[in-house]
Amino acid sequence: MLPMSMVRDDLLRLTPSGLFCELGGFFVDPWGPVAKAVITHAHADHARRGSAEYLTTHSGKPVLQTRMGPNATIQSIAFGEQITLGEVRVSLHPAGHILGSAQVRIEHRGEVWVVSGDYKVAPDHLVEPFELVPCNTFITESTFGLPIYRWRPQAELYAEINAWWRENQSQGKTSLIHGYSLGKAQRILAGLDRTIGPIYCHASVAVCNRDYAAGGVVLEGWRMLSEAPPRCDWSRAIIVTPPQAHGGDTPHRYGETSSGFCSGWMTTRGIRRRESIDRGFPLSDHADWPELTSTILATGAERVYVTHGSTATLVRWLTERGLDARPLRTQYGDEGTADDAVAVEPGAGAN
Ligand SMILES: [Zn+2]
Ligand SMILES: [Zn+2]
Repeated sequence: MLPMSMVRDDLLRLTPSGLFCELGGFFVDPWGPVAKAVITHAHADHARRGSAEYLTTHSGKPVLQTRMGPNATIQSIAFGEQITLGEVRVSLHPAGHILGSAQVRIEHRGEVWVVSGDYKVAPDHLVEPFELVPCNTFITESTFGLPIYRWRPQAELYAEINAWWRENQSQGKTSLIHGYSLGKAQRILAGLDRTIGPIYCHASVAVCNRDYAAGGVVLEGWRMLSEAPPRCDWSRAIIVTPPQAHGGDTPHRYGETSSGFCSGWMTTRGIRRRESIDRGFPLSDHADWPELTSTILATGAERVYVTHGSTATLVRWLTERGLDARPLRTQYGDEGTADDAVAVEPGAGAN
């Protein structure tokens, strides 16, 4: 491998507030308040309140506005639309993670950097499909950057979830299906078979459903939990609810329950046990190992910065293939911990 050119521009560098593009005068997904923030998506570890100005995609704007607050200044552009910020050209490209989620492409004098944000390559028919963006330097997430993570087809997981719901029904148990309010809950909803029984959504999920609708993706055939009839037969129902609502106020009200959890982390049994989940469904909004490795190679990037999750294994794998790969310490991580706390009412965030 040839040494990296010494004249290469660093289009982004890490500062105490996050990834900064000095030539463009903006940050990408900063974790401190800044003057201008380009946002890949509205999960809590990527979008923080307090910046003076935000830039995101049209379909990602409603949910970002909800989370940043009604007074936040948010500009939105179309996918693929090029704008000039300072001395660089910036465009946003589908990341396939949640509705409106983007990779950020930054170009200066022919040099191209791409920040992936969180991404998923397999299409889910709910969000804009991932676009491969050729670049010189790729900053990639690696939430599931271990070879054990290989997702099964979405249709298979949907079938399992629906079969589990039917089974619970036959045993007189209320089904509680847990998934992050933003993104995962909508994927769950899209896969539920409406002929089995009524579908109810926790308030924080309903807020995100509304923002998805505003962004152009309308999900039908569900009701808010608060809209349930007084003598609801809960044992026929399924309740879509965030992880934090699990184990808290929910079980008694609904009689005997069975809880399922949709997350890539459900691949490993230990986590399922720790969370006392009856069933785990590894339905993920992130790239699995084959997607991560094939995508990174396909970008043609000579330099790769790896952030989020299991960086060491992926960095080693890329280095062995002749790429200049390095871990990058950011404050991004599993959106599970912080994500839903934003939208859920106080007191619901027990874990
Ligand atoms: Zn995310
Ligand atoms: Zn993330």
